Amino acid sequence: RIYCGTGGETMNPSSLAKSQELLRSLRLKESAEQLPVIVKEAEESECSYLTFLTHLLEYEKKRREEKQLEKRLKWAAFPFHKTLDEFDLKEQQSLSKKHMNQLKEMIWLEQMYNIIFLGPPGVGKTHLAVGLGLEALYQGYKVMFITMGELIQTLKTEEISRKSQTKLKRIRKADLVIIDDLMFMAINQNEANLFFHLINDLYNNASIILTSNKAPKEWGELLGDPAITTALLDRILHRAEIIHLNGDSYRMKYRS
Ligand code: ADP
Ligand code: MG
Repeated sequence: RIYCGTGGETMNPSSLAKSQELLRSLRLKESAEQLPVIVKEAEESECSYLTFLTHLLEYEKKRREEKQLEKRLKWAAFPFHKTLDEFDLKEQQSLSKKHMNQLKEMIWLEQMYNIIFLGPPGVGKTHLAVGLGLEALYQGYKVMFITMGELIQTLKTEEISRKSQTKLKRIRKADLVIIDDLMFMAINQNEANLFFHLINDLYNNASIILTSNKAPKEWGELLGDPAITTALLDRILHRAEIIHLNGDSYRMKYRS
């Protein structure tokens, strides 16, 4: 059996620094930082060269994945971090356990189905949208969360704002776009047009989760233009599952 250390030998500082520099130049930044610790551990446990190497590479991979996930979580811009497991199904009779499990399987996302959560305020629409978004994100999908109000604002400022451009680029590249609180306030013709074009871009490329306290048949009144409304509903509802949530507001019930 081969050991990486000869009992009691300590790390040579200059070769350690050299290795770290080499690792950095090879873009193995995480390994470079952690190298002293990993070498020390290997020396102490007298592990084989191969075991040492495996440890180092595994560390690099794990850290990269963690950072990647952190980045995607930040980009997703969720308003809060609430999972589906934190959603109490006993409090929401409209959604069965079986239905919830089906949603968690993400087949709808794989097949680019949209999900529309409808219901009065406080019944858990945003929570469920965020929960599904987190689940999708952990499964490796690119997810973006935005409120309808913020989306309209972002679309209107796309030409002039770098921040809006970045945001929209991420939205257009996402596998899942969550648009929260649809049609909360009436929007004008220009805004409706911008919104339609975005939905059209997403159509066939991504799934959309929409939440709204108004039924699709009422969206038209808020959008104004009947032609745009028809085209929009056509895109959104073509492959969509509509989930009606009702009951008392969880927010009101548990307010203390
Ligand atoms: P909506 O978007 O329908 O107005 P939210 O999703 O924002 O409602 O829910 C309001 C609050 O109540 C949130 O803090 C949410 O986590 C909580 N909530 C609602 N329904 C449930 C539930 N069934 N189990 C756990 N928390 C819930
Ligand atoms: Mg909400």
